[in-house]
Amino acid sequence: MTSETAETSLDSQQIKHYPLFIGGQWVDSDERYTIIDPATGELVATAAKGNREHADAAVKAAKESFESGVWKNQSPAQRADVLERFASAWEARIDELSVLTTKESGIPVRLGAVFGVYSPVADTRQFAADLRRFEWERPGPVLEPMLAVGILRREPIGVCLGIVPWNTPTALAIWKAIPALAAGNSVVLKVDEKTPVTGLELAKALSDAGLPDGVFNVVTGEGRDVGSYLTEHKDVSHVSFTGSTATGRTVMAAAAARLKPVVLELGGKGPNIILEDADLDAAVDGSIWAFMMHSGQACESGTRLLLPESIHDEFVSRLIARVKTMRLGDTLDPLTDVGPLVSDHQRKRVLAYIESGKADGARVVIGGGVPEGEQFANGYYVEPTIFVDATNDMKIAREEIFGPVLTVIKYDSLEQAIEIANDTEYGLSAGIWSEDIEKALAVARQIEAGSIWINDFHCATSKYPFGGYKQSGVGRELGSSAMNDYTEEKTILLSVSTQGSRLAKYGLVLGTPRDAS
Ligand code: NAD
Repeated sequence: MTSETAETSLDSQQIKHYPLFIGGQWVDSDERYTIIDPATGELVATAAKGNREHADAAVKAAKESFESGVWKNQSPAQRADVLERFASAWEARIDELSVLTTKESGIPVRLGAVFGVYSPVADTRQFAADLRRFEWERPGPVLEPMLAVGILRREPIGVCLGIVPWNTPTALAIWKAIPALAAGNSVVLKVDEKTPVTGLELAKALSDAGLPDGVFNVVTGEGRDVGSYLTEHKDVSHVSFTGSTATGRTVMAAAAARLKPVVLELGGKGPNIILEDADLDAAVDGSIWAFMMHSGQACESGTRLLLPESIHDEFVSRLIARVKTMRLGDTLDPLTDVGPLVSDHQRKRVLAYIESGKADGARVVIGGGVPEGEQFANGYYVEPTIFVDATNDMKIAREEIFGPVLTVIKYDSLEQAIEIANDTEYGLSAGIWSEDIEKALAVARQIEAGSIWINDFHCATSKYPFGGYKQSGVGRELGSSAMNDYTEEKTILLSVSTQGSRLAKYGLVLGTPRDAS
C-alpha cells in the first residue's frame, strides 16, 4: 500500500484519482476502478480498488481509534460541534458536490443537489441536535422490597460497518455514518463499486472538520469479496446495509455467524393508491414523482399505481400528457427531469422487465424503449414507461425493477385496493391520495409498510424512522431514536438497603454460613 493524496492528477484533463481513506490517510491500491458518467460515458475519476488487506487495515484503524477513546470520550457537545462543522463545510461546496453526485450516479443535477448536499446537511444537523439532547444515563425504577435502584446507560458499540449502494450514495452514507459517529463509534464505510467518489470526499471532509484519524474509514472493493469479508470480520460489531433484498439475506446470514446486530434497508414495490376523491392534478404529479424520481432507482419508489375503475382512463391520459412534458437528457442542466440508469447492466435488466411485462399481457401506453437522439447515444437511458392492463401477479408488479417503469393496476373497491397493496413480499413504502384525510388515514393504518405518505411521496426525513416490513428490511434508520441502534444499553443496579445485603435477607448466601465456620 502507498499513501498519496486524492489530488493526484492522472492526465492533462485533471481527472482525479481517489485512493481509499484509512486511518486518516489516503491509501492506494495496485488496481483501479474507472468511474464513468452514466449520462455520457465519460471518465469522471478513477478510484483505488480495495481488497481484503485494505478491509483489515480499515477495521484495525477503526478499532484502535475506538479503544483509544479519542472520539468516544469527547463530550457529546464536542462531537456535535465536529458534525456541525462538517455539515457547514459540505454545504459551502454545494455547486461542486451537486455536480460530482450527478456525474457519479447519473442523477439530474437538481436532484444531485438534494441527495448529494441538502439532505445530507439537514440530516447531519438533525443528528447533531439529537446528540446534544441524547440521554446517555437515566435513573430506572426503585426495586422494592430489597431497595435497589438502577441506572440505565447507553454506550457506543465499537466498529460499525455501513454498506451503501449506488443510487443515492452520499445520502445513504450519512444515514448510516452520522448516527453511528454521533454515538461515539468508529465507522468503516464500504462504498459501491460504481459510486465510490462522494463517499471518499465525505471521509476527507469529516477529517477536515476535526474527526480524529481512524474514526471514519472508507473502503472500496467488490461487494461479494470485500463487502462480505467486512460483514464477517471479527472486529466489526454492527452492520447496516442498504441494497437489494437478495444481498441483504447474504449480509444477515454472514452477520449471524457472530451474532452481530444488523439494520437492513432492502427492496420495495411500493403501492401508490389513488382514491376516487383525490385532487387529480396533485395525484398525477405525485404519481410521476413516485415512480420517476432518479429514473425509478430508489427502493421506496411508488411503482404500482392502484387506480379506481371510475377514474382510470382519465388518470392514465393525464399521466401520459405529463410524461410527454418531461425533459430527458443533459443531467447537468437544472431543467432536466430524467437522467440515465447507473449502468448498461441496469439498463439491460430494466429492458428485460419491460419485455416480460409485454409478454405477460400488460400494455405499454408510453415509452417502453431507449430514447433516440444524439444526446442519449453514450448514456444508459430508458424512456419513462407506463404499463396498463396489468395484474398484481405479473412479474412487473411483483419484482423490484429499479427503473422508470410504472405498473398500473385497476381496483373495484377500497378493500380490494388494500388487498392488492399488501399482496407483495415487500413493505417499505406506500402513497395514498385523497381529499378525505380520515379515509386516507383509515387506509394507511391497514397498509403493511414502514412509511406511508398521504398526498405525498418519497418524503424520507431524519425526523421520522424509515425502514421496511416483510422482505423490505430489518430495523429502522433515521428518527429521533436512530442513535439507539448504534449503542448498547447497560443496566447498573445499586443496592441501597442499609439493613444488610439482599443476599443475606433473601437466603441467597450460598455455602456454609460465616458464623458456623
Ligand atoms: P447490491 O445489493 O448487490 O449492492 C449494494 C451494495 O452491497 C454494494 O456496495 C455492493 O458492493 C455490496 N455488496 C454486494 N454483495 C455483497 C455481499 N455479499 N456482502 C456485502 N456487501 C455486498 O445491489 P446491486 O447488485 O448493485 O443492484 C441489484 C439490484 O438491487 C438493483 O437492480 C435493485 O433492484 C436493487 N437495489 C436496491 C437498492 C435499495 O436501495 N433498496 C439499492 C441498490 C440496488
